[in-house]
Amino acid sequence: MNAVVQASGVRMSYGDVQVLGGVDFTVASGEVSCIIGPSGSGKSTFLRCVNGLEPVLGGSLRVLGEEVGHSLRDGRYHPWTPKEFAAFRRNIGMVFQRFNLFAHQSALDNVACGPIHVLGTPPDRARKLAMEHLDRVGLADHAHKRPRQLSGGQQQRVAIARALAMNPALMLFDEPTSALDPELVDEVLEVMKRLAADGMTMIVVTHEIAFAREVGDRLSFFADGVVVEHDRPGALLAGPRHDRTRAFLSSVL
Ligand code: ADP
Ligand code: MG
Repeated sequence: MNAVVQASGVRMSYGDVQVLGGVDFTVASGEVSCIIGPSGSGKSTFLRCVNGLEPVLGGSLRVLGEEVGHSLRDGRYHPWTPKEFAAFRRNIGMVFQRFNLFAHQSALDNVACGPIHVLGTPPDRARKLAMEHLDRVGLADHAHKRPRQLSGGQQQRVAIARALAMNPALMLFDEPTSALDPELVDEVLEVMKRLAADGMTMIVVTHEIAFAREVGDRLSFFADGVVVEHDRPGALLAGPRHDRTRAFLSSVL
């Protein structure tokens, strides 16, 4: 199996408070792995560990072939230099509940900005590619609008296009539809579904059980900082093995 993310026994604490108590989790190339679980169970923290924003304090976390935060030189592990860290982060796209677009820039400039400033893509070429990414999320006609002229669903699709513009090898979604009005949820899930069909490797924290069932290759249930169980979504949803999972599912289904 070609693992893009391989976590084993990942631990993380804020001060004395343990937030991840030994997470085991794997995503293979081209897979969509969905995560559900109660608020405060460590889902966002785990995603932040995967893209290197939080230090892993125990266990092993390999992402895109590297031990996150450390590189092996002269037979020893060294903390990443800022340059190594930046190179790693470029390969991972992240989409949050809040879209965090630049308010004073058009959708097009929001998407082109990373390639221009981070990848050094010439501005004309970056804008042409940005247009293609906006087209991919169905927003070519809105390219010149500012975020406030767009609906929440459209803004989230711009945020997805902005992440895609960096050509990530892995996309992380942290409750991408939780802040949206219900009628805007589907347009965002549709874009994510197409992305999955195109073969993107994705980790998706979501409360959208139907999406997890239809699109997910795997579904993990987080509680108290560990993966309580994981399985193919249909199997986990139909026959949860643990009481915690059953209780959670009966509260959201
Ligand atoms: P989830 O995404 O599953 O809701 P989080 O990963 O956001 O959970 O949070 C897990 C736990 O870590 C919670 O108890 C939360 O209060 C705590 N936590 C999250 N961020 C911080 C922080 N920056 N400082 C201290 N505690 C935090
Ligand atoms: Mg969260």
